[in-house]
Amino acid sequence: MIKLPEQVNKAICLLKSSGFEAYAVGGAVRDCMLNKNPFDWDITTSARPEETEKVFCGERIIETGMKHGTVTVIIDGMPLEITTYRIDGDYTDHRHPQSVSFSDNLRDDLSRRDFTINTLCCNCDDKIIDVFGGKDDLKNKIIRCVGDPDTRFSEDALRIMRAVRFSAELGFTIEKNTSDSILKNRHLLSDVSKERLQIEFVKLITGKYATDVIRKYHSVIEVFIPELAPLIGCEQHTKYHKYDVFEHTLHAVDAVDFDDRILRLTMFFHDFGKPDAKTTDENGTSHFKGHAVISEKKTRAILKRLKFDNKTINEVSGLVLIHDMKSPRDKIQAKKMMCRLGDETYLNLIKIKRADNMAKADPHAIDEKLKNMRLFYDTVKQNGECYNLKLLAVNGDDIKAVGISEGKQIKDSLDFLLDSVMEEKCPNSKNALIKYLEENRK
Ligand code: ATP
Ligand code: MG
Repeated sequence: MIKLPEQVNKAICLLKSSGFEAYAVGGAVRDCMLNKNPFDWDITTSARPEETEKVFCGERIIETGMKHGTVTVIIDGMPLEITTYRIDGDYTDHRHPQSVSFSDNLRDDLSRRDFTINTLCCNCDDKIIDVFGGKDDLKNKIIRCVGDPDTRFSEDALRIMRAVRFSAELGFTIEKNTSDSILKNRHLLSDVSKERLQIEFVKLITGKYATDVIRKYHSVIEVFIPELAPLIGCEQHTKYHKYDVFEHTLHAVDAVDFDDRILRLTMFFHDFGKPDAKTTDENGTSHFKGHAVISEKKTRAILKRLKFDNKTINEVSGLVLIHDMKSPRDKIQAKKMMCRLGDETYLNLIKIKRADNMAKADPHAIDEKLKNMRLFYDTVKQNGECYNLKLLAVNGDDIKAVGISEGKQIKDSLDFLLDSVMEEKCPNSKNALIKYLEENRK
């Protein structure tokens, strides 16, 4: 029913011809059946790790987690995780089994897996083995725990986030018992490491169906991002808005490309400062003065807490800070903005402003402004117009050559000339710039 890659087939056949059982299992089989390209392939086998090593003695082997039964074998350039049928021992910390033992029985191994759609397996015959009804659940788009949800989530609380993010990625519904149990046991997520929560949260927010899932399971996210809670019911009584801050946020997240991690995170966090900044005037109108600054501070703190890398922290919080910056009215203003922000951020800002506005009362109110913001950019680029010091036709040495030697004065002169060029008061050529500087020096 599904086509296994040659390398996977080869590994399975090798194990089988040595007398062991072996199957492709888990996410890759699930993704194949959904016509998606699997990211990596896992194989489950009755062979013990030492036996697997023997079967693949001619190949490159990495002893990934021998204690847990996993050997990584690289076959024709493809790394395959080959894991012995496993039974997990008792869980003590809501995350890791205290011990694992090996089994000769495929069913044992499938029983320890989290959701029915993740238990499907197949081998060289291409026949799908389906012990827990995963095929039907896949067809009906359902995420269902293998076994009793309360037990499975208290064994390993990460499964709570996995369920929610699979729902966000695949657009599947979480089956009622599983869903009730998620909401009941969500507090167990506080035992899961921040790094793992971060990985699952990013997969969730970049899921095509993220916003429906966040709407329903916001209380799960609030376990590790409690700052989300005040957005719910934070009304915005202004002529621009029709949603509370939470709904506005979800619509804004929806309005950027789902697989753009930076922009999805930016839209998720962009108004986190609003509940703190909110005031209401005598007419009953809401104001959120300075909210972007508060949002930026909160975003930085949350991303840091979730152990995001510095580049992501700076990019996302930087965009959150400028999300409500005014769009440029003319090309000169655009050049100054491009100078300040850089190309990438300038272009991202257009997308952010569009998304922010799409989530307001009049979704197309600033279309024209944003079209121009893009047009200014394209024109500047096409004309090769100067909008930063790198593109300026003079450098520090040229300034020194006219007798300005002090560092600060050199810098001020260059800035002055750059401004003059951007404001189209002086052409960007060396002779003209030097002349202009000499004429305008105080
Ligand atoms: P993806 O790779 O798309 O994120 P996946 O389901 O393949 O999703 P992996 O972490 O690659 O996730 O795990 C491979 C398989 O191992 C899963 O399909 C599932 O059968 C099992 N598995 C992974 N994590 C758990 C867990 N926390 N509890 C139970 N089984 C799990
Ligand atoms: Mg996987």
